[in-house]
Amino acid sequence: MFDILIINGTVITVDQEHNIYQPGFVAIKADKIAALGHMYELPAELEAAKIIDAKNHVVMPGLVDGHGHAGHCLIKTLAESSDGPDGGWWGQMAEDIYFRYTDEFFWQAEGALAAAERLKFGITTGVSMLGSTPRPDHLGNLEAHFNGAIKTGIRQISGLGACDGPWPKKPRIWRNGQAVETTLTPQQMVANTEESVKKFNGLHKRQICLPMPGNLGIDTNYPEDREFAIWKNREMGRIAQEYNLPLHTHIQGGGVQFVYDTTPEILGPHTSLTHSTALSQREIEIFAETGAVLMHGPTTRSNIRARCPVYEVLRAGGEVVIVTDGTAPDRSYDIWRDMKIFQVLHRAHENDSMLAPAGRVLEMCTIRPAKAFDLDKKIGTLEEGKQADLILVNVRQPHLAPFGPMPVQRLVYHAQGQDVDTVIIDGQLVMEERKLLLVNEEAILDDAEGAYNELADRLGSEMMAALTDAKGIYDLRAQQMANPYKR
Ligand SMILES: [Zn+2]
Repeated sequence: MFDILIINGTVITVDQEHNIYQPGFVAIKADKIAALGHMYELPAELEAAKIIDAKNHVVMPGLVDGHGHAGHCLIKTLAESSDGPDGGWWGQMAEDIYFRYTDEFFWQAEGALAAAERLKFGITTGVSMLGSTPRPDHLGNLEAHFNGAIKTGIRQISGLGACDGPWPKKPRIWRNGQAVETTLTPQQMVANTEESVKKFNGLHKRQICLPMPGNLGIDTNYPEDREFAIWKNREMGRIAQEYNLPLHTHIQGGGVQFVYDTTPEILGPHTSLTHSTALSQREIEIFAETGAVLMHGPTTRSNIRARCPVYEVLRAGGEVVIVTDGTAPDRSYDIWRDMKIFQVLHRAHENDSMLAPAGRVLEMCTIRPAKAFDLDKKIGTLEEGKQADLILVNVRQPHLAPFGPMPVQRLVYHAQGQDVDTVIIDGQLVMEERKLLLVNEEAILDDAEGAYNELADRLGSEMMAALTDAKGIYDLRAQQMANPYKR
């Protein structure tokens, strides 16, 4: 007797043999895949508590989004045109909002909203850094974020770590509408990062807490002392090692070399480095030598400012995965969109339409990121004995029909997030017919609106006007927004 039996679907396993069962079945017992295969292999007398007829659906592994930011769903589009020849100030805004104008309700409401968005696009495992660079002063914020996310049913990987300067940081804690001024030192930052891992990792079976410094290498916004940067990186690496956890962070060209020269022990297959733009030839080789994973967000701003040498790293033997870096100021968690943009960007750069084939791209959003977070034995492919972590995609729609031959290409080129209609995580039905089952989606949307309005009140009408004052959006080039932080 199985708990859930999915029949008649096009089962794309993304396993090592690239098996596709068309039509096929997946049988789930408790939280695991008990059997799968072609429909003609399905024993006639098989029984299940629930049968899902997946005719006109693809059944595939849940998508893994290896990088995003908790908080961003409630500040998206704000200061969207803050970049320009005088330098951008979006990062300054994000730091200011996250460190000085948010309360626990903000983090809880955002955590739920982000998880709901990801689930509805078929992302069953999402990685979130708490803040733009992490805000590590008050563990209640991370707890609230986890509480918001976990109740939706998603597998949530989140964390704190070293934040950008300048030091000491001056975070504010809001209670009952009142702000309390505090001070954060680098020593507290490290202690709190370690404490967060102790307190939250594994608290729920789908709750994973990692050290996630905002940057390894020397902080580009607030240049630090070299010895300070080495100390900070070593401490982040120590926490990852002591608690046997992956390490996840942003990095830019120069940073990879710096880490390699000063703390090479923290680079390995469970270290994932997001953006990795403007790499030197030597840094490209370092990815291949150490096995560190390059996490590439094709729709992120970093990728506009400087190029990420994706194919150079791949050719050198390095590992690359696709991430959303959701969601502020200008992108969504629809990783299906990132798959397509990834293909176009790198094919255009290399003038080669054979690059980034659909199967490889699908792996870059499933099993390959799962491996970076040491989850590949559990998720990322559909195989007997693995966690039942899968999604159903409705292919009975004009943009996907007639569906049959070349199913992987059809999905990667043509499907989008809203085509996902069913999500199962650890054998638990989390979404059916695009309805979230464990949470009230209306309440999540109401909370998000409430938290946004409270944030706007705290920021004040003058600041909100500055952050939304975009000009020239119908012209050939938008104007850079006036910087409210310029003194
Ligand atoms: Zn990021």
